[in-house]
Amino acid sequence: MKTKRVIINQENQAEALREAAELLHQGEVVAFPTETVYGLGANALDSAACEKIFQIKGRPADNPLIVHVASVEDAKKIVRYWPAEADLCAAKFWPGPLTIVLPKDESIPGIISAGLDTVAIRMPSHPVALALIQAVKVPLAAPSANISGKPSPTDGEHVWQDLNGKLPLILDSGRTDYGLESTVLDLSGTNPTILRPGGITREQLIAELGKVELDAGVNGQLQASAKPKAPGMKYRHYAPRGKVILLDKESDSEIAEAVRFQLKNKKNQEKLALLCLRETASILESEIPVKVDLLYILGSRNNLQEAASRLFEGLRLCDEQGIDIIMAEGMTTEGIGLAYMNRLQKAVGKNSYLGFEKI
Ligand code: AMP
Ligand code: MG
Repeated sequence: MKTKRVIINQENQAEALREAAELLHQGEVVAFPTETVYGLGANALDSAACEKIFQIKGRPADNPLIVHVASVEDAKKIVRYWPAEADLCAAKFWPGPLTIVLPKDESIPGIISAGLDTVAIRMPSHPVALALIQAVKVPLAAPSANISGKPSPTDGEHVWQDLNGKLPLILDSGRTDYGLESTVLDLSGTNPTILRPGGITREQLIAELGKVELDAGVNGQLQASAKPKAPGMKYRHYAPRGKVILLDKESDSEIAEAVRFQLKNKKNQEKLALLCLRETASILESEIPVKVDLLYILGSRNNLQEAASRLFEGLRLCDEQGIDIIMAEGMTTEGIGLAYMNRLQKAVGKNSYLGFEKI
């Protein structure tokens, strides 16, 4: 299939949205930007169209899709009930990177919820995403627009690299703001529970809702036999080709020691990358320029939001440059750091949610 890629600007936006809406009505799949990562969208009320999403991505059928809406009213139409907590969250965080899980209405096909009795819903804030949902006038099911298992796409170029030839249209608005997926919050049980940390932090949710639990799957506390509540999180995810090593160390000197260890023990042909904060790079300066094949600065310690938003881009760059070993600096698990560490943990792999790999 020939893929058209439209770099969106003020002049062509209306026409591009019209074309995208028409394709979606015909049961086709279209990639579009959101403020988190790029989405691969299909009409959420059309099972056959949603089936295409799974085929294109190579996504396991037991990994449910998030449904994107353009208003709270539209969200209410696809759930069996809408609790007071959902009102609080929507008023504060919608449109934005918060996904809410609630018991689903029958109009939502089983393929979207992967057989679960619930549906995950989000109202995105990216103007192109919102305008597209408004133009189509149906909710859009949309997972990240990448091949399953690879780092999520934070730029139209990433979507192009992964999906060119597999879908008719990519709407490209350049780099996304958050660069990490939405927070998935389950409001279908007794207590609000984070199933996946993301753009909206646990602290922000606690400020609104009081108590917010963290699902056992998030921090790798889940036993191999246990059934994760966010099925998608059980897979190795966000993974580049190279081996990822998490530098989850207490101090700069410990990080320096770990980097030195990796440099000393690398095999001749192996290519090494270091993804770290600017301040760490300055401290390690004397070691790195000569020996590391790729030094990727995520951002500053003073702006962890920005640093976290560059993680996927950094991992993808490693793939492009044929890196074999990727050392990535850890950060605090407070604020946006929880989502960053969660994605890095999944990229490390090792039975995914079973634990961090320490050097
Ligand atoms: P992605 O679309 O790739 O960003 O992944 C969507 C995430 O939302 C995955 O971790 C899913 O497991 C999770 N999710 C989607 N629908 C549900 C649901 N009904 N209940 C729990 N988690 C869900
Ligand atoms: Mg994804």
